[in-house]
Amino acid sequence: MRKYVMTGAQGSGKGTQATLLCTAFELVHISVGDILRWHVGNHTKLGAHVRRYVDAGQLVGDDLIEEIVRDRLDEHDWNHGFVLDGFPRNQVQAEFFCETYDVDAVIELRISDDIVTDRVLARRLCSGCGLDYNLISHRPQVDDRCDVCGSDLVRRPDDNAEALARRLADFHDRTEAVLDVFRRKERVVTIDAERDVDEIQASIRDALGLESTIAT
Ligand code: AMP
Repeated sequence: MRKYVMTGAQGSGKGTQATLLCTAFELVHISVGDILRWHVGNHTKLGAHVRRYVDAGQLVGDDLIEEIVRDRLDEHDWNHGFVLDGFPRNQVQAEFFCETYDVDAVIELRISDDIVTDRVLARRLCSGCGLDYNLISHRPQVDDRCDVCGSDLVRRPDDNAEALARRLADFHDRTEAVLDVFRRKERVVTIDAERDVDEIQASIRDALGLESTIAT
């Protein structure tokens, strides 16, 4: 059983790195942002409640987020473990999490704000299959069309300069405090996330003592 928390600024590659780790080690990727976007996209009651926060890049209330995380972990579909991505995001959430759960390590992806801004503003998402693109490093073959399913590529509503500035400010003000809470109890590994995807993944596995071959 392997249990990890992945933390880092928006655009630091948390989702990509968590997916690679989960695929290789049969872990379950739990992304709070994905859960919230699913509710927004499927017009659930919860989605209606959180939409304006998610679209504006503002943090959703702690009680609601804690309930979502508790319910998700209570599903116990993670026999080999999980990577929790996008939670905890502030000190209150971190205290809640540390009181209730243990993890093997917290993976901090470190990246400068300038690189985050370039990456996030170039990010596009397929409106059909959800595949991620980046207009700098992973362009579609035909402009604004998904290579796989042909649907339109769109920007996440919160991938704009104003929402990004708010999310980065939140990250520096609140999320970095999360690491201080974790350091009291758990192992925190800091990874330079300004490199290639495969190099970052190899460093994560090395730091966690996992075998370092990248699964294809
Ligand atoms: P993400 O995909 O992790 O960037 O999250 C997208 C949005 O979901 C954030 O901008 C927040 O509005 C909301 N969100 C995700 N995780 C949390 C959290 N732990 N606490 C509060 N809001 C969250």
